Amino acid sequence: MINFRDKNLIPIWEKVQRGEELSFEDGITLYKSSDIISIGKMAHWLQREKNGDAVYFVVNQKIEPTNICVLSCKFCDFAVKKNSPEAYEMTIEEILSKLHPELLEVHITGGLHPDWEWEYYVGMVREIKKHFPKIDVKAFTAVEIDFFSKKFKKSIEEVLLELKEAGLRTLPGGGAEVFSERVRRLLFNQKIGAKRWLEIHKKAHELGIRSNATLLYGHIETIEERVNHFLLLRNLQKETGGFLSFIPLAFQPGDTGIKPRNQFTSAIDDLKTIAISRLMLHNFDHIKAYWIMLTEELAAVALNFGADDMDGTVGGERIAHDAGAITPMQLAKNKLIKIINDANKIPVERDIFYKPVRLHSNNVIGRVSYLNTLPFFKYLDNREYKIFPATPRQLGMLFKDGNIDAGIVSLVDFFEKENDFTYLKYGIVGNKNVKSVLLYSKFPIEQLDKKSIAVTDETSTSFRLLQVLLELKYGLDVVYVREKISAREKTLPNFDAFLTIGDEALKFLKNKLDGFNYIYDLAQLWYDWKNLPFVFAVWAVKKDLPQTKIDALDKLLNDALNKFFSSTTEIEEYYNVKIGFTQKEIQDYLNNIVYRLGEKEIQSISLFKEYYQTLLLKHSEEEKKVKLSH
Ligand code: SF4
Repeated sequence: MINFRDKNLIPIWEKVQRGEELSFEDGITLYKSSDIISIGKMAHWLQREKNGDAVYFVVNQKIEPTNICVLSCKFCDFAVKKNSPEAYEMTIEEILSKLHPELLEVHITGGLHPDWEWEYYVGMVREIKKHFPKIDVKAFTAVEIDFFSKKFKKSIEEVLLELKEAGLRTLPGGGAEVFSERVRRLLFNQKIGAKRWLEIHKKAHELGIRSNATLLYGHIETIEERVNHFLLLRNLQKETGGFLSFIPLAFQPGDTGIKPRNQFTSAIDDLKTIAISRLMLHNFDHIKAYWIMLTEELAAVALNFGADDMDGTVGGERIAHDAGAITPMQLAKNKLIKIINDANKIPVERDIFYKPVRLHSNNVIGRVSYLNTLPFFKYLDNREYKIFPATPRQLGMLFKDGNIDAGIVSLVDFFEKENDFTYLKYGIVGNKNVKSVLLYSKFPIEQLDKKSIAVTDETSTSFRLLQVLLELKYGLDVVYVREKISAREKTLPNFDAFLTIGDEALKFLKNKLDGFNYIYDLAQLWYDWKNLPFVFAVWAVKKDLPQTKIDALDKLLNDALNKFFSSTTEIEEYYNVKIGFTQKEIQDYLNNIVYRLGEKEIQSISLFKEYYQTLLLKHSEEEKKVKLSH
């Protein structure tokens, strides 16, 4: 698959495919290698494992409330002192005037102002949320958070909690520069070092504030310092899982005097750093190619070197001199969509947490991003479609909005789009049991009346199946709370039960939570009740696709399944590490799932549809009763 010119990269490639983390020495080998194409291909492979053909962007705006700063970092070409003629300060009203309702994210960072009061910062976030409730606020680097903590004599926790309360959603990744005491002493000795930066991000993650991370490269740092930076970030991610993305930032010499004005990083170094960060930070979901800094041409190439995010419309005004009637933001958005489409990827408009809002591409196949869809995709020999992986619930929403032409869609989402979609005779079916749709409970199921159940925010159909079972079969009245449920979770003991699905459910099988002694497989409960398999998802296609196209897709799927189940090659070891299952366990799991819909499966779909409709009717009558009683 990869024709390595540098054979030293082969053991690294084997580790990447197994999902293992790369060592410090691997990082150095990668940096020292001149086999840039192989490095790019490895990173692109991992990028596609994680994000398929998706490339994300957000409609956002950057605000720098002031350039006045109490510090004087050597590499900073932005900050000035208060008495400088270039100094500026924005009022909250001025900040609000730069925003508009179409934005989904505002990114706020700035100088460390000597005089501003704490209320100004909290008020800024609060007012943005008040006037623009749909805009998510990403604000204040760890350097600013540390400054607030010292200046206003508050703990880091107090600072973060007060900002969160005002509406702060995430922290940007700036201020990390490069985690090296040597560089810090030489270039920014008044600024916080690695220990404090990591401590602040860790605290933010513990308080439920997600964050991002950066590396500023191409100044005086060594490759050893870059690799060490990756390792420190990876370790924190392992502990908290709180980082959303990583952004390598090329140093801009400007008038800093650190490097001659025009001595930018080379395109090779930029691509290598993006690719190596993808490979070293295997536990980060997203790597950004920050297009405004990299240039459009290089950012486009980076989409085949491990990057899956182009940040957003931020900075659009710089390219908008002849915008005419089009807003700078719209111009930047159109440009981003074009760059991504030209790279044969799917432009995915997202929110601050990478929830897809809209896909800007045709010929997209939706893939539920769980191991159980591997038999369809491992050998899917297609050149026509681009693959978009997401959770069942996210895919359901995109199907409903007509963003996807075909793919695996959760059964209840299909019910809602039956006028526009039909299904091929393929799906994801639990035959008796499924092993990856599990209710963990502290009590026997019949005793869950009036109890609270956490439900993973990834599910559509499994949640409805749970409701059908609990409410219509057992006659229980239960409180459901949508939650992000991951096998690393520590807060679940607050609930009486929780529903987990997909790969996380498989991980829970390996890491049982104390106290949850009753484990129910929902497919098994359905089978015991109805003596039928349960269809969780079907392969849907748009009805208005030409029949030849539908037939061709049917054949592709048939061939892909035949090849997968007749092949003796082992399933990617990637999943062994990701889920913690052995090859045998993975094979048993996949062999137990039914992928082709026969008579019983179709009968089960009809039966479940009746129960689902009864459930919806019951809920709407209950709602009416509640309204009447008020
Ligand atoms: S703290 Fe930030 S804004 Fe201030 S001088 Fe340093 S890099 Fe520039």
